[in-house]
Amino acid sequence: MKKLTREEKFMRKAIAVAKRGLKQGEVPIGAVIVYENEVVARGYNRRAKLQLASAHAEMMAIDKACKKFHSWRLPEGCELYVTLEPCPMCMGASLNARVSKLYFGAYEQKGRSLTNELASANLLNHKTEVVGGVLEKECSRLLTDFFSGMRKRAKEEKEKESEREN
Ligand SMILES: [Zn+2]
Repeated sequence: MKKLTREEKFMRKAIAVAKRGLKQGEVPIGAVIVYENEVVARGYNRRAKLQLASAHAEMMAIDKACKKFHSWRLPEGCELYVTLEPCPMCMGASLNARVSKLYFGAYEQKGRSLTNELASANLLNHKTEVVGGVLEKECSRLLTDFFSGMRKRAKEEKEKESEREN
């Protein structure tokens, strides 16, 4: 088997965190923050459980890292790994927290992320370097499996319902 690169190794950790969310019925998206080659914070999507629009994996991980460092400004060199291309809110939070480098796995399909536009806009006098497509297949499979499972369950429900009606 091919040896994993450093980036892939940390993305695997984000995938593992995403699976924790999956067990709780959340859309499986995971994030980790790495500082000096160590995972210092983890987060997974908890939108359904918390019923909060802001409970994205990246936000959870950034909040934890800020608490850990007692600072809204993360130390220079912090990296964020997330299994799906970040939405504008999370990209904004990454810039606000001064994340140095952001790696994501799967690409957001509908081009609604504006990742590069935001990353290079330099609105906060800070640029976050972005690298997309790390373990892309694994990361997107996690999501497609989840959504096809959901559709399958919905279909089964519907079939049961029509059986009851007949
Ligand atoms: Zn987000």
